[in-house]
Amino acid sequence: MTDVSSLILPAVIGLAVLLLILVIHREWRVRRLRMDNLVLLQELGESQRRVKESSRELRELFDHSAISVMLLDRYDHSVRYANDLALEMFGVDSANALTVEVMQQPDAWPVSPYSLVDFESWLGKAGRLGMQRFEWKLVNRSGYPVWLDATLASIPYEGRQILMFTGVNISARKIAESTDWLRNRAMLAMNGDRPLSAALDLIVAMFQFTSPYARCAIMTLDEHTQTLQWGSRPGFGESFLKAMDNLPVRYGAATCGSAASIQGRVVTADIDKDDRWDRYRKAAEQAGVASCWSEPVLASDGHVLGTFAVYHDRPWEPAEQDIESLTGPLYLASLAIERYQARDRLQRMIAAEKTIREISVQLQTMDASSTDSGVSSVLNFLCEYLQVDRSLVLQGSQDGTLFEAVYSWPLLEPDEDGEGLALTREELDSPLSAIRAKGFCVIHFQQSDADDEVLELLMPEHDTGSCLMVPIVQGDRISGLLAFCTGDDKHRWQEFDINTVTPVAALLGSALSRKNLMDELTFQALHDRLTGLYNRGKTEDRLRQEIARSSRYGNTFSLILFDVDHFKLVNDRFGHNAGDDVLVEVAAQLSNNIRVADFIGRWGGEEFLVILPETSLESGGEVAENLRMHVAQRTFPIPDGGVTVSAGVSAYLPGDSIQDLVKRADAALYLAKEDGRNQVKVSA
Ligand code: GH3
Ligand code: MG
Ligand code: MG
Repeated sequence: MTDVSSLILPAVIGLAVLLLILVIHREWRVRRLRMDNLVLLQELGESQRRVKESSRELRELFDHSAISVMLLDRYDHSVRYANDLALEMFGVDSANALTVEVMQQPDAWPVSPYSLVDFESWLGKAGRLGMQRFEWKLVNRSGYPVWLDATLASIPYEGRQILMFTGVNISARKIAESTDWLRNRAMLAMNGDRPLSAALDLIVAMFQFTSPYARCAIMTLDEHTQTLQWGSRPGFGESFLKAMDNLPVRYGAATCGSAASIQGRVVTADIDKDDRWDRYRKAAEQAGVASCWSEPVLASDGHVLGTFAVYHDRPWEPAEQDIESLTGPLYLASLAIERYQARDRLQRMIAAEKTIREISVQLQTMDASSTDSGVSSVLNFLCEYLQVDRSLVLQGSQDGTLFEAVYSWPLLEPDEDGEGLALTREELDSPLSAIRAKGFCVIHFQQSDADDEVLELLMPEHDTGSCLMVPIVQGDRISGLLAFCTGDDKHRWQEFDINTVTPVAALLGSALSRKNLMDELTFQALHDRLTGLYNRGKTEDRLRQEIARSSRYGNTFSLILFDVDHFKLVNDRFGHNAGDDVLVEVAAQLSNNIRVADFIGRWGGEEFLVILPETSLESGGEVAENLRMHVAQRTFPIPDGGVTVSAGVSAYLPGDSIQDLVKRADAALYLAKEDGRNQVKVSA
């Protein structure tokens, strides 16, 4: 029998070996797994280190990049990282500050079209779709606008997906483009027919483009009143605009008045603390204006054209950047104002030239008979041109002691005594010496008592006023004055207007002397040189007219023929000159004592003819008798003083000729002489 026991041992051994093998195998497998695990752990650590390393490298890359970069959490949009440029862009110094203070603060976002809501939606879209590209404008903490060409993309970062914002600053290009566009439009406005304010508005917009929080305005200078007026009207509200309009150019008149007066920059950082704003502070408060920076707008020759002001609703001072941004708009404003002023001057010059031309044609073509209406219309024209209340021509007397208003527009009413307006040389003393010194004279009310008197005489209907006088010259003598008056005592007589009316005065002077000459010639042609009465030719004309009228209307008129008695004796005894004096005196006696409607002329040597319209023979006889008595009672400048006249009277009968009428009067006169002289005979 096989010993069972001998089999057990090898079986046990075999089992034990098997067990050992199993245990060893398991141990070996555990060891291998451990080893694998270790390797895996090592690999994981290595890869994590590498991810960290690459994120750090990425950040380093971003830190030195010229692009703004922000990394945002994909879900809560908090800022995980922002490079220096991104921080600078928002004006903060840490990513943390960026998150809390700026990114969530709507103030940091300009109004539409780039709103916070838009940005939030871009963020959302980028999270879903991968990448978004857009143009983005924001106003940084210093108040300056920044334009970015921005992208939002989903990228892995530190082992997870996040959103990366990148922005390339395109502000310089944007500003250049926009200012170019605005500059071109402003230039177009300047060259076209647009008003100055349209060009200035565009120039203001140019600066406003780079300073969205500023409110800007250009004021222009009125040289004559030395005040500033709104050139472009900013949206300040009427009360502020009204309070600041006509701002005097004076140091202390708010910021702009001060800047214009010193021709330099004036900054009021805080209106509340600047006493130059004392008078305007309330208006500023109402308009929400807290600071003002004003630069004078200077012309090419350096004189002030206006001011460019930048207002803020909080205390503020310009930085270098602002001053630089204003250079272009300031230059353009100067160009625009100068150009408009030149255009204005040109237009006024053309108008003035046209005025002078028209007046000169009018004055040169009018004949003596139309001079009065011609001069009046010229005066009317000048009143309207200068926009004054009255213009007058004062004509000087031969000896220059009296200046009488011979023309005026509107017509001057005579005073209570029926006297016209006249000024003595004494009254005009200071105006005349000013005219001699500088060619014209301007007087204002309350400058001196003497001037006030002159104004009162020239403008009795005004209590105050101002007047311009230019001389009317004949040869080297001031023969008259051309005067312009206005009730406005602050009226500015512009040099330009004075230069326009001076040649008109010269034209008026020559027209008036031409008229005087014509009047003189006409007078000589119709009058008798010795007595000043109408001459024989004119007397015959008048007789012809009376005959025509009487024959047409069937009425009558009388005629008296006077003859000085024994006149030959006067000549013989006292000489021809004494005879002349007697004739002059007889003429004066007769003409002074006839009615206005009657007519007297010198008929011959010592014969005078009187025509009495609408007068019967009988009444004519009475008139003649009356006149005879006047002469007889008169003492004449000859030794015995007595001179008498005889008269013959006739009356018109239908069909009479001049000769018939005169013949009958002559016959009656002959009878009077026959009868002993110094008497009147009426024709049979
Ligand atoms: P009677 O009473 O008959 O009219 O006498 P008389 O002397 O007036 O008559 P007569 O006609 O003979 O004389 C007129 C004189 O008047 C003649 C002339 O020398 C003079 N005479 C005419 N014109 C002038 C003049 O302009 N001046 C002067 N001094 N004498 C004149
Ligand atoms: Mg006679
Ligand atoms: Mg006689």
